[in-house]
Amino acid sequence: RPSLRIDYAALLNEEQLRAVEAGEGPVLVIAGAGSGKTRTLTFRVARQLERGVPPEGILLLTFTNKAAREMTRRVEELAGASVDVRRMLGGTFHHAAHVLLRQYAAVLGFSTNFTVLDREDARDLMVTCIAERRLKSDKRFPRPDLVLDLVSLAANLQEPVSHVLMDRRPQLLPLAPEVLAAAARYQQRKAQMHLMDFDDLLVHLKRLLTHHPDVRQAITERFQCVLVDEYQDTNRLQGDLVDLLAGERKDLTVVGDDCQSIYSFRGADFSNIIGFPQRYPGCSVHSLTRNYRSTPEILRLANTSIALNTNQFPKVLTAARPAGVKPLLVPTLDAAGQATFVAERVLALREQGMSLEAMAVLYRAHSHSLELQLELTRRGIPFRVRSGVRFFEQSHIKDVLAHLRVVNNPGDELAFKRVIRRVPGVGPATAEHLWTALRALPEGTPLAEGLAHADVQAHLPRKSRKGFQAFADLMGRLTGPGASNAPERLIDGVLAGGYAEFLKAEFSEEEHREEDVRQLAEFARRFEDVARFLSEIALVAEFAAGEALGEEASGAVLTLSTVHQAKGLEWRAVFVLWLADGRFPLSLATRLPEEEEEERRLFYVALTRARDALALVYPLSVLPRDGERILLRPSRFLLELPGGEEAPFDRHAPSALEAEAGVVMGRDGPPPGGTDPAD
Ligand code: ATP
Ligand code: MG
Repeated sequence: RPSLRIDYAALLNEEQLRAVEAGEGPVLVIAGAGSGKTRTLTFRVARQLERGVPPEGILLLTFTNKAAREMTRRVEELAGASVDVRRMLGGTFHHAAHVLLRQYAAVLGFSTNFTVLDREDARDLMVTCIAERRLKSDKRFPRPDLVLDLVSLAANLQEPVSHVLMDRRPQLLPLAPEVLAAAARYQQRKAQMHLMDFDDLLVHLKRLLTHHPDVRQAITERFQCVLVDEYQDTNRLQGDLVDLLAGERKDLTVVGDDCQSIYSFRGADFSNIIGFPQRYPGCSVHSLTRNYRSTPEILRLANTSIALNTNQFPKVLTAARPAGVKPLLVPTLDAAGQATFVAERVLALREQGMSLEAMAVLYRAHSHSLELQLELTRRGIPFRVRSGVRFFEQSHIKDVLAHLRVVNNPGDELAFKRVIRRVPGVGPATAEHLWTALRALPEGTPLAEGLAHADVQAHLPRKSRKGFQAFADLMGRLTGPGASNAPERLIDGVLAGGYAEFLKAEFSEEEHREEDVRQLAEFARRFEDVARFLSEIALVAEFAAGEALGEEASGAVLTLSTVHQAKGLEWRAVFVLWLADGRFPLSLATRLPEEEEEERRLFYVALTRARDALALVYPLSVLPRDGERILLRPSRFLLELPGGEEAPFDRHAPSALEAEAGVVMGRDGPPPGGTDPAD
């Protein structure tokens, strides 16, 4: 038994200490942001080790694998060398399931080297399933990603695909038989080929624990303690897994905040956390009421906002830190002004000695970071994009840019091959033949003419004729006489020429791909011609490549992230962007009252990431193509806050700008003007 000599009382407050010292579980900690839930969980791990639980007896489930690594590192710091923390199992549900299934796959009839499909692989398989069943009618349905989402949601909700289709995706009803057939085929093929997609990892682990008592016994005997962070975002399947893993012993500790439940679109359900005391009668319930993260000013803003949600567990949260400065409300003329403001502020803070690592910029949707990525690049401010791929590295953005590159330079082989492969039935080999045939034509043959040439068309498989003709027509329009050289018009042309349809067919609405492309067009407006636009973009790509090669690895970088990806993290200075109605809350996501509450929880998560400084930025207008400036309405999450003396924020420029736009913030002001094109 290791003696850890940790001075718990010096490092934790009384409430936290009680939760750490609570006997064997079940233990529930339900508390607001920044109150030390993650810290408490970390110390509880150390405490369990101290009580004599061997490290391999600990299962720690977290929102990201990185979070688990950080907590493990902290436990190691606390516990010292007397414990081999690497023997603990920590990480996401998927990670833990993967580790366990590698060990027990044979029990389920899988070989232990079963393959895990990533999202791309899964998509390819779905495409095959749709093709095999000859489901691909003229309607180009069903859409592979839509069917995958549906299958995934059903797995996570533990419901039949047909029910989920009816309840959650009614727009698919006209296609229900085709969609269900494709889904069934997909499940069948995976089983035949010993493949698991991400959801299967959880589904099969549940099967293993439910139907194989001997294995369940072995696993629950191994994991003497199960601890779960961010429990409010578990879905039904994950909730069931936690219950099964906790076994008879039920030495289970879960921590979370119902006000930070932001993944309902993936089936997360905060009734897991609210209903915990009913499922575990006699559990000890703890609340933590002191926020150690943020200044009282930041906390007041966050508390005032979230109090407007009706559906929540009552909580108290007061600031432990001394007074700081009020959050700043920053109207800017437009998106470009917003990017300039952030970049300048970031540089000023760095000048004052704050590291870039201590700052973050958060936004509702990935596409909202576009202008900023450009601005930061121009100024040489290094940044990392947490929310997945950088804007310009996304496949649909690359597709659109590839079209523009072909228009700009028909000799751009890579771009040509990329766009031609979007034609149904054209694979790498055909693309190669088409390219070679085009090159063999006399120098200077216009692209449209080349595409129509018999020598080129000879290489087309019959099934690709129609798609190829559409592509040739599009290129004819984009490069022919009288065609515009303005990048935003070209982008519009690509969208109208079939690409929007392609996106609709291939991806779900939730992925906002078309919106991304429209955003790109809006950005492109400031460039006179396509060549300049493309070279500016190429610069960004180069910057990104430098970073990928590790050039930035040693230096500090600014973080850009969606709010969803920022869960559980904290920075000294936080900027929240695009606080305009339709953008945050996102118009797509506020059709129902409970969706508005979820968006407000998301806003709460964003605000509570800030420790010392918080800026809420919103563009007052957008410039649509060929149009007059359109006013945006500030986010309802800002307008609903008290104004005047009571306002929980300071205005950046009490502003001529705002007055000009006819907007006064706070619910005491006159009604907001402006119409939002995103509504
Ligand atoms: P979130 O809801 O965002 O996940 P949380 O409740 O998990 O937040 P933590 O991340 O654990 O909160 O803690 C927030 C910050 O407050 C961290 O920097 C943490 O180190 C600090 N903190 C928490 N409790 C204490 C304490 N008793 N003494 C000093 N600092 C503390
Ligand atoms: Mg936390």
